[in-house]
Amino acid sequence: MQTFRDRAAAAYDAERFRRQGHQLVDQLADYLASATRGALPVMPPEPPAENLARFPAAFPEEPAGELHPFLERVLAASHHLHHPRYVGHQVSAPLPLAALCDFVSALLNNGMAVYEMGPAATAMELNVLRWMGGQLGLPEGAGGVLTSGGSVGNLTALLAARQARAGYDAWNGGASAGPPLTVLVPETAHYCIARATKLMGWGAAGITPVAVDAHFRLRPEALEEALAAATRAGRRPIAVVACAGSTATGAFDPLEAVADFCERHGLWFHVDGAHGASAALSPRYRHQLKGLERADSVVWDAHKMMMVPALITAVLFRDSARSFEAFAQEASYLFHGQDTRRWSDLGLRTLECTKEMMGLKLYACLSLLGTRFFADHVTASFDLARRFAERLRTSGDFEVAVPPDCNIVCFRHTPAGVPASELDALQGRLRERLISRGDFYLVQTTLPKGVYLRTTLINPLTSDADLEALMDALRGLR
Ligand SMILES: *Cc1c(COP(=O)(O)O)cnc(C)c1O
Repeated sequence: MQTFRDRAAAAYDAERFRRQGHQLVDQLADYLASATRGALPVMPPEPPAENLARFPAAFPEEPAGELHPFLERVLAASHHLHHPRYVGHQVSAPLPLAALCDFVSALLNNGMAVYEMGPAATAMELNVLRWMGGQLGLPEGAGGVLTSGGSVGNLTALLAARQARAGYDAWNGGASAGPPLTVLVPETAHYCIARATKLMGWGAAGITPVAVDAHFRLRPEALEEALAAATRAGRRPIAVVACAGSTATGAFDPLEAVADFCERHGLWFHVDGAHGASAALSPRYRHQLKGLERADSVVWDAHKMMMVPALITAVLFRDSARSFEAFAQEASYLFHGQDTRRWSDLGLRTLECTKEMMGLKLYACLSLLGTRFFADHVTASFDLARRFAERLRTSGDFEVAVPPDCNIVCFRHTPAGVPASELDALQGRLRERLISRGDFYLVQTTLPKGVYLRTTLINPLTSDADLEALMDALRGLR
């Protein structure tokens, strides 16, 4: 009979790890080869209940089975983002190098709420943020934190905006300690902005919508109207949120005009650049971010356009010290002494206490692959989207919702003979059939003009020929 200590020693045995690790890398390399060749269905079409049955909540009391066959089942039932015909949501096809770094992060588990729990991870995080701030053109004193996704990132920035501009201490006094607040937000913003203001206890009127133009970009003239509407409704506006780019169509708001407006009215200027802040890396496209360097805070997801696995989101403040105000409480068991603003204890500034060694994968990829690789990816994917949109526009049987600002293209199939009233239903049907066959994965969105198919060209392996094939596949499904 083995004691628990014997079994624990076996579970942590370095030689067993070496064996399993080599096997695992071989297995994942084979997987990667078939995914990048497009030799798998992009998304296995099984409905949720089928997968629930495939991975039941039935665990043996004693050891059973091997890792390899178990992972084969996981791989087969998963969505394959490295497939060149994955053109769906804004999630990267992760660099294998970055995935290896996540493996390291998982083994080291340096939680980094305090410097002592992640010395190397803390240093890499701070310097990755410093580099990102520099790319965005923020001043020398800029800084912030890495956090778990754009949703948490936007909440973090808005919490800091509230401490800075509410005129009262809402963190300690609560949302009702002063006048009710609101932020001006384009209609096209990601739902997480409304979620953040609701989490802060501001209710539905915590968001004051700002109208957008035919290109889905915030209309600067509409800011004055929105400000007046908020004041009429008895709200104190504290900030404007601009999108770079917006989620549905990838539209970049006119940041310079928003910066001017914020300056005039003493409002906090926040840019949700979860998807599009990466444009700063591209000499060809960074002009679309003009004005961003004047932002008080910016959110930038690396797990979208920087080819690293989720989650890694930068929340950057033009004044680094602002990031301490998002979560202003003290926890004496963790953060010792009088100095509650120790720059090296990152947990003071994040919703998370323990978190992954997020900076590692980005720091490593930037160091080992060089920054030009990332700049070229942004340029190439934005270029590809423009060529795709042009091909759609001139096809005669497709229609583009708007010329793309980035690598998100919304379009629909408009074959001759289909009445306008049936076009919405047609797009939904085409998408269903296409993704259930597994040769492509794309999504759909409802715009004021109707239902559109939506693609994000985020996998660097996707080519013009793949997009040509997508158009042909849609034509053939009718
Ligand atoms: C993706 C996205 C988000 C949400 O980010 P997550 O990392 O998925 O939480 C927020 N805003 C914009 C503009 C986005 O594109």
